[in-house]
Amino acid sequence: MLETDTEGVPQRVATGRMPAWDEVEEWVALAYERARPVAAGTVADYIPVLAEADPESFGVCVAEVDGSLHSAGDAQVLFSIQSISKAFVYALACDAVGHERVGDIVGVNNTGLPFNSVIAIELNAGHPMNPMVNAGAIATTALVPGDTAEDTWSAVLAGLSGFAGRPLELDERVYASEAATNQRNQAIGRLLQSYGRLDRDPLEIVDVYTRQCSLLVSAHDLAVMGATLADGGVNPITGQQVVSADVCRDTLAVLAANGLYERSGEWLFEIGLPGKSGVSGGIVTVAPGKGAIGTFSPPLDSAGNSVRGQRATAYLSRTLGLNIFASDDRGSNA
Ligand code: GLN
Repeated sequence: MLETDTEGVPQRVATGRMPAWDEVEEWVALAYERARPVAAGTVADYIPVLAEADPESFGVCVAEVDGSLHSAGDAQVLFSIQSISKAFVYALACDAVGHERVGDIVGVNNTGLPFNSVIAIELNAGHPMNPMVNAGAIATTALVPGDTAEDTWSAVLAGLSGFAGRPLELDERVYASEAATNQRNQAIGRLLQSYGRLDRDPLEIVDVYTRQCSLLVSAHDLAVMGATLADGGVNPITGQQVVSADVCRDTLAVLAANGLYERSGEWLFEIGLPGKSGVSGGIVTVAPGKGAIGTFSPPLDSAGNSVRGQRATAYLSRTLGLNIFASDDRGSNA
């Protein structure tokens, strides 16, 4: 099950608005303090450089759609975005080629299998089903237009930087480490090609995917990127329209179904919001029309989701009244 610890935390009703600025500020500080002492979880080491992450590092940031920001702890510490990139590249692909085409090639359903599953491709006649696990994400990256892999990479870099509102940079060490050890993703690329789901060079596309996963972001960046999805594609800091409002709606629906790997159902049940996690310890969670939460803490649960991140997000979903299913606060607050 998820690591949420919401015992006794009040469930506020989803009103369509964030609480007042100073209240949000206070709840963010309390969420951080409450989750900070939790020592559970393991830092990912299947990409060798990731094992060097400081397990104590912990940051939380809430970005509101009006550009207000609330941070606690190490909200500016940089880490590689990893799987969280899948959410934003999905949005870029849909914006470029339309969600029907992405849906035909990739799909929107949860496979219920781990993020690096090969079986999921075989079970579905080569249809990756889920753009938020590696197979679907690699097929999605291949749909971002570009005459060459380098052009596609430029489009991905510019698009993700647009979401963050600043030029993002590659962590060369993480990229080199993953590129040297990603034979499984290369195999997924080849398998997709064999089923006709990838009409570009699989190794070049896996390389673009590996680079997108190696981009450096902070919890602050994740909150701004998420708040862009929360506000119809308009970045709350720069005012840039990064993708269309329809694409944001579609992307958030995909995140609600698939964002936390095989724990996605539990996440929706406990937190009631679309989110996306990554193996380096980040989670972005989006409250449509209101803003987003970015968290960073490297120790992960067995599905690859940050333990402190889950706890802080569950706390904020309740106390800020973000859970989209909470319409009535009479009763037990359980
Ligand atoms: N780059 C990582 C991989 O492909 C991303 C996985 C993740 O964050 N779950 O294995």
